[in-house]
Amino acid sequence: MKSYAVIGLGRFGYHIAKGLAEQGLDVIAADNDPEKVKQVGDYVEDAVVLDSTDIKALEDSGIAKADVVIVSIGENIEASTLTVMSLIDLGVKQVIAKAISVLHGKILTKLGAYKVIHPEREAAMKLVKNIAEHIHYDTIDLSNTMRIVKFSVPKIFINKRIADIDFERTHKVRLIAHKYNGIWHTDIDENLIIQDTDILVIIGNVIDIEKISKTL
Ligand code: ATP
Repeated sequence: MKSYAVIGLGRFGYHIAKGLAEQGLDVIAADNDPEKVKQVGDYVEDAVVLDSTDIKALEDSGIAKADVVIVSIGENIEASTLTVMSLIDLGVKQVIAKAISVLHGKILTKLGAYKVIHPEREAAMKLVKNIAEHIHYDTIDLSNTMRIVKFSVPKIFINKRIADIDFERTHKVRLIAHKYNGIWHTDIDENLIIQDTDILVIIGNVIDIEKISKTL
């Protein structure tokens, strides 16, 4: 069975640690605030007070041996980046880190985080999707850099011929599915004009996809 560690037991980290433990998984939870550690202590296998920027503390606590470590430190970017760096140096294969801004996320990715999450942004997009029925927005992150997105047609594509949009050269993404007249097609007809009621699925680099998503 895989082992997990959660560092930083703020609102997000607390629910991750508790949620994993409730799934019956082996979890070490850590924070430098004893009060936070106490709150999660009843749920998890092991709860420790430590400063995660201290590499020795990461080793001594057993966190460095966990298969997956979730770093949920937001506000203190220095502590967040140092912790991620140390975990990678210690050989942790899957470091999942919370980011509080785009720049913070970029730094974590550069450091080699296996996955970077933006909880507020992701929760907001989910809510938008749930309450605005005409807007479609769904993503699957295949890795830190590769994403598949299903969305309503961004304004820049409405009433344009697919061939003229030139997804691959101009936007560096690939259109892999197109829903029009209520039916999904994976065999893309380049001569079709995209309507605002269509739905598109594209695959590409996260940065290129985000550029397009901003025009939704
Ligand atoms: P959330 O939005 O998840 O509630 P938060 O805004 O309360 O988070 P953050 O700054 O993101 O707070 O920090 C999350 C947790 O990380 C806090 O409980 C904090 O005590 C802990 N933390 C911060 N720095 C360290 C560190 N160096 N070592 C261990 N834990 C730390």
